[in-house]
Amino acid sequence: MANITLGEDTLTCQAHETVLDTLLRNNRQIPHSCRQGLCQSCLMRSLDNPPPVSSQVGIKDTLQKQNYFLPCICHPEQDMTIALPHQEMASSTVRVIEKQRLATDIIRLLLTHEDSFNFSAGQFVNLKRADGLTRSYSIANTPHPDKFLEFHIRRLPDGQFSNWVYDDLNPGDTVTISEAQGSCLYLPGRAEQPLLLVGTGTGLAPLVGIIYDALQQNHTGPIHLFHGSRDIDGLYLMNEMRELAATVDNFYYTPCLSGENTAADLITGRAHDVAFAATPTLKGWRVYLCGHPEMVQQTKKKAYLKGASLSDIYADAFHVNLPTGNVVSSHAF
Ligand SMILES: Cc1cc2nc3c(=O)[nH]c(=O)nc-3n(C[C@H](O)[C@H](O)[C@H](O)COP(=O)(O)OP(=O)(O)OC[C@H]3O[C@@H](n4cnc5c(N)ncnc54)[C@H](O)[C@@H]3O)c2cc1C
Repeated sequence: MANITLGEDTLTCQAHETVLDTLLRNNRQIPHSCRQGLCQSCLMRSLDNPPPVSSQVGIKDTLQKQNYFLPCICHPEQDMTIALPHQEMASSTVRVIEKQRLATDIIRLLLTHEDSFNFSAGQFVNLKRADGLTRSYSIANTPHPDKFLEFHIRRLPDGQFSNWVYDDLNPGDTVTISEAQGSCLYLPGRAEQPLLLVGTGTGLAPLVGIIYDALQQNHTGPIHLFHGSRDIDGLYLMNEMRELAATVDNFYYTPCLSGENTAADLITGRAHDVAFAATPTLKGWRVYLCGHPEMVQQTKKKAYLKGASLSDIYADAFHVNLPTGNVVSSHAF
């Protein structure tokens, strides 16, 4: 068992615990969100020994060299003296301009940034509340001269951040936002390539952004969107997507219902099953998968087995975590 020194305190990291688990168990307030090494909101620095290489995956080379690491995936191999980064990932302040109900438990949150903010539709940011509570959300719009950012946020039962957004965050209020991260985005080039986009729940958010981005960049290949939800209420933006499909020749939209209720004009089944049944091969296709972690994981494998090249598969799993560090994967986001 390794000892972790933070400031004046030395804490013991139990077997199988990550450094973040140890810090949270000892009530240290550390910004964190995904606990999977994805969002980098818990970034810390080792002041003595180099951290395990596996805890530096995905961090910029320049930060790796300075012994930055991700405590959420760090199983220490020796004692470590650690600190919060002197210079966190660049962050800025954004202001709420609008909250709009998209479904019973999904809202569209519009934020405006005064300073320049570089992003691509489909990337995600970490939003941080004044007390440090941080969560990741995907950007649903393309860069706009009016400098706004759009998010689709689902309220989860007892979810700390999502309920705060619903109940307490109002137009005019500010939140802290990280730099945009992630590589689930539209890259120009190969304009004729067919695109398959599969999302569950608010996994639609990054996909909508990617679709508008692809169309703005004159993508000429077919763009197929399959959106899944257990109930019809969760198939938000159905009218907007249907209108888009009616006006854009190369865009096709299939809303899928996977729960017990069915509807005459909707396909029944899980979005990824419906998508695969409709697509004999994915050889040469570009595939985007966003939302429920299990769906993303399974569909990524299946897309590869159906012929998509791994470098053409872009995925964002919306992990939610329990205080113990176990990933909750039973919610349809
Ligand atoms: C890259 C990325 C992008 C994302 N994009 C989006 C997006 O665009 N839209 C979106 O809505 N979400 C998105 N998410 C998910 C988002 O980051 C949050 O995880 C989500 O909003 C829940 O946060 P919360 O604070 O409301 O819930 P938490 O407080 O973190 O709780 C999550 C759930 O776990 C349950 N839970 C908590 N503790 C326990 C316990 N002890 N026992 C049993 N259950 C428990 C809660 O009831 C709740 O339902 C994304 C996640 C990632 C990693």
